[in-house]
Amino acid sequence: MAKVVCVLYDDPVDGYPKSYARDDCPQPERYPDGQTLPTPKAIDFKPGALLGSVSGELGLRKYLEANGHQLVVTSSKDGADSVLDRELPDAEIVISQPFWPAYMTAERIAKAKKLKMIVTAGIGSDHTDLQAAMERNITVAEVTYCNSNSVAEHVVMSILILVRNFIPSHQWVLKGGWNIADCVSRSYDLEAMSVGTVAAGRIGLRVLRLLKPFDVKLHYMDRHRLPEAVEQELSLTYHASLESLAKVCDVVTLNCPLHPETEHMINAETLKFFKRGTYLVNTARGKLCDRDAIAAALESGHLAGYAGDVWFPQPPANDHPWRTMPHHGMTPHISGTSLSAQTRYAAGVREILECYFEGRPIRNEYLVVQGGQLAGVGAHSYSKGNATGGSEEAAKFKTTVA
Ligand code: NDP
Repeated sequence: MAKVVCVLYDDPVDGYPKSYARDDCPQPERYPDGQTLPTPKAIDFKPGALLGSVSGELGLRKYLEANGHQLVVTSSKDGADSVLDRELPDAEIVISQPFWPAYMTAERIAKAKKLKMIVTAGIGSDHTDLQAAMERNITVAEVTYCNSNSVAEHVVMSILILVRNFIPSHQWVLKGGWNIADCVSRSYDLEAMSVGTVAAGRIGLRVLRLLKPFDVKLHYMDRHRLPEAVEQELSLTYHASLESLAKVCDVVTLNCPLHPETEHMINAETLKFFKRGTYLVNTARGKLCDRDAIAAALESGHLAGYAGDVWFPQPPANDHPWRTMPHHGMTPHISGTSLSAQTRYAAGVREILECYFEGRPIRNEYLVVQGGQLAGVGAHSYSKGNATGGSEEAAKFKTTVA
């Protein structure tokens, strides 16, 4: 019997939904590169249900208990008296989501003597100290591709919201106004602008493809270059450095994982590469950016806008400056946890658990760490080391809206 500890975000303040806005939840047949959607033997949930919150349990309870395992589900993850810390010593598997991450630091991994696997219900396993996981021979897996396109849609939305000055204009409507000049004095067309992505992986490439019909000039930088045919198809300009990309772009979007090489890649020094009036969109990870440098660049007008859904730590302190800085379009971390995405990543977690318990190999594309090494997608997209430093600050958050 294995103990599985699953950390999920809280249910809605009005309680777990009894009905939904739609009756179905359409899904693609395959991902754009041909990868199949998750293929568990069965699922015990209705596609389109809220699975990522505590009562949704990722749809795992029936399956795990029928096979003799114990499932503990909690949202209590931060601070030494958290349920997560209480349950860790005899946990074999820890599951959490980047939206409400269980920061699996070296200290927690040391406490979890029986831990064999950490699963990210989503994409991005930076909330786990990968170095510590490698040293303890703990498998780390995520559900690659499950929400990449969900995030790409959020990126395109965020770019348009900033460039068109949508949020302040909407607020004039709520205030009962008709203040056209106030709305449009910061509003531009995206057409003809230069848009660049830092990383052209699953999300970055999808963003480039979605933006192509806007008649923008497309740029990217990455550690590996895209095939020539793709560069030609999308009329892409490749940049070997952030400096080269930032100097020519009106909009920059960050789409790389957080790992020691990318931590704080956007800081007071690198922001100097950006043109005055650049819009920056970050749905990848909050810690790719220096928190205070971003707020200062918005205050000074060096950046015209900043949007995204990722913060560090999560949840961010109630007085985190990104909540109140000017010209931002921030949301809580939601882009990859639409009901559509939850259907896919809950099925992906089920697939990973079935493989683990039946002694079958986990898909290579889901692996981040295995056998003491970076593996699968981890070997391609991450670097060794740890990016969880400072995550204990998440304990400072206090719920103020209930
Ligand atoms: P992929 O692995 O497909 O793409 C990541 C890309 O980042 C790869 O092309 C990789 O390059 C590139 N990269 C890695 N390091 C660097 C670097 N130092 N400089 C430039 N490029 C780099 O992942 P996805 O596109 O699916 O996801 C990317 C990230 O987005 C995730 O790791 C996660 O942090 C975040 N994310 C956020 C979500 C949300 O809800 N907001 C949901 C899903 C993901 P190469 O392979 O060439 O080395």
